[in-house]
Amino acid sequence: MRVVLASHNRKKLEELRRIIGPKVPAIELVGYDGPEPVEDGTSFAENALIKARAAAAHTGLPAIADDSGIAVDILGGSPGIFSARWGGPARDDLANLELLKWQLSDVAHPHRGGAFMCAAVLVAPNGDEVTRMGEWRGTILEQPRGANGFGYDPLFQPDGFERSAAELTPAEKDAESHRTRAFTALVADLNRLAE
Ligand code: IMP
Repeated sequence: MRVVLASHNRKKLEELRRIIGPKVPAIELVGYDGPEPVEDGTSFAENALIKARAAAAHTGLPAIADDSGIAVDILGGSPGIFSARWGGPARDDLANLELLKWQLSDVAHPHRGGAFMCAAVLVAPNGDEVTRMGEWRGTILEQPRGANGFGYDPLFQPDGFERSAAELTPAEKDAESHRTRAFTALVADLNRLAE
């Protein structure tokens, strides 16, 4: 059975094929190049559902989508759904990271907790919708470290590691990440759909 990933991002398609492909053998995950809706939801789950509904409507296939970001405790869960544009409209990873770093510059270590969050959703052609959340907790570092990954990875040290997420190998990150957790939780729903 074909399932469309509601994202124009080829890297995300490859990442998800790697993460869940072997666990959903009856499903072929395909890319999407149709219209992209305005993400005007007020939560990760709503924004993921907006993307998946649009791709399902356009292709007639079941669709999966995700929406993710970083939620910092002392900022009341911000940047949250605004993570991609926190430093301005250009979606510039470095500007986002620099702003977050500066905002926390006077915050002492016990208060620098936060989490990467991901909502993974499945929208079936009959209108059934499933939402699964993944959370990866850690600490916001004072200085960025590492060159792997993307986004806020250099500023995020996952619990249980002495390295930033940008210092982990892709395999280490894949094994732990918020996206892996959310999509792993969606595996049973995908397999049920393919039955
Ligand atoms: P999107 O869900 O792909 O639109 O990602 C939203 C934003 O959240 C990205 O632009 C990143 O800034 C941030 N983000 C999401 N996941 C990660 C991650 O795994 N590492 C670092 N930043 C992330």
